[in-house]
Amino acid sequence: MTRTHSVTLIPGDGIGPEVSDAARRCLEATGVRFAWDEQIAGEAAIERFGTPLPAETLASVRRTHVALKGPITTPIGTGFRSVNVALRKELDLFACVRPCRSYAGVRSPFQGVDLVIVRENTEDLYAGIEFAAGSPDAATVIGAINPLIKQPLRLDSAISIKPISAFGSERIVRYAFEYALAHGRNKVTAVHKANIMKCTDGLFMETSRRVAKAYEGRVAFEDRLVDATCMQLVLRPRELDVLVLPNLYGDILSDLCAGLVGGLGVAPGANIGETTAVFEAVHGSAPKYRGMNKANPTAMILSGVLLLEHVGEADAARRLEAAVRAVLAEGKAVTYDLKPTREDPTAVGTSAMADAIITKLTADS
Ligand code: NAD
Repeated sequence: MTRTHSVTLIPGDGIGPEVSDAARRCLEATGVRFAWDEQIAGEAAIERFGTPLPAETLASVRRTHVALKGPITTPIGTGFRSVNVALRKELDLFACVRPCRSYAGVRSPFQGVDLVIVRENTEDLYAGIEFAAGSPDAATVIGAINPLIKQPLRLDSAISIKPISAFGSERIVRYAFEYALAHGRNKVTAVHKANIMKCTDGLFMETSRRVAKAYEGRVAFEDRLVDATCMQLVLRPRELDVLVLPNLYGDILSDLCAGLVGGLGVAPGANIGETTAVFEAVHGSAPKYRGMNKANPTAMILSGVLLLEHVGEADAARRLEAAVRAVLAEGKAVTYDLKPTREDPTAVGTSAMADAIITKLTADS
């Protein structure tokens, strides 16, 4: 008898419920059995529980160890912290994995791109250690630093701290190599700016070189400066394979690479920890399309493909990705953003594109 996978489903805000529903239906159409535990987070949770990330939702992900999550709006100026950042912190989802693959039918100046961004998710300038300009804490920090440096900091400076640890660097680089091995990838490129940030990025670079030695002969390794990598990505993206980066560079290069393969509508992602993984599209909640059945569900469905791989359903993952690929290549039952012009009257809605993928999937089974 086949296994039933318990998965927490967090539909999210804006277009989240629509693309999550599309992904859930596609996952079920693979024949794999799921026990969904639907939980709320974001705007609906603020209304009901006064917090965007209720304890119940977090407890569910801790229990199932796997979540499929729609995008969640980060309210500005309300004092609520981002649910996405909170989930990553609470569950120690240290690796953000974003495969970027060209699909026929998706317009882009680049073809044949197939690379994976592995971004460290917990450290760097995202650690949230900040001191506002003119605040007493900033004055304390500046007072402590100034005696240690040649050119004193201006007293009206705002300060953000960039912590990069040996532990965090080793953990993410090792993950990138293990990912490469598990997915038949040939090369890992560590990306940094160690010529300028000799201590933080220098540690990341040294650690990556050391970890790489353990994989010699199995996975090739190189390290590159982040600026040179950006140029390389737009000149010869096919020469890159798996990229491993500290948090901020990973964030920026993820969107750059999503752009290389046709944009946010087709970019899936996963946040992975030692015991738990949360799968979500790279895009946000696109509030202007909320409830319009217009958003492209591909990124969320491909996040579902990553989920299938993660829970050991490789065959279903391969079949679902093939169905997505076929629908994209045909270019008929696709959303407005995948048509030659945005006003194309033949564009279909979110649910109809999911239906077309399900039809392909079941026809090929
Ligand atoms: P966004 O990704 O929501 O939108 C950027 C642009 O892409 C918009 O023009 C949008 O309409 C379009 N777009 C996005 N997804 C699309 C899809 N599936 N199909 C068609 N078009 C699509 O980014 P934003 O506007 O910067 O953010 C909106 C909200 O989402 C913010 O509150 C932000 O904090 C949040 N956000 C959440 C996540 C997450 O939950 N992981 C990620 C990014 C942004």
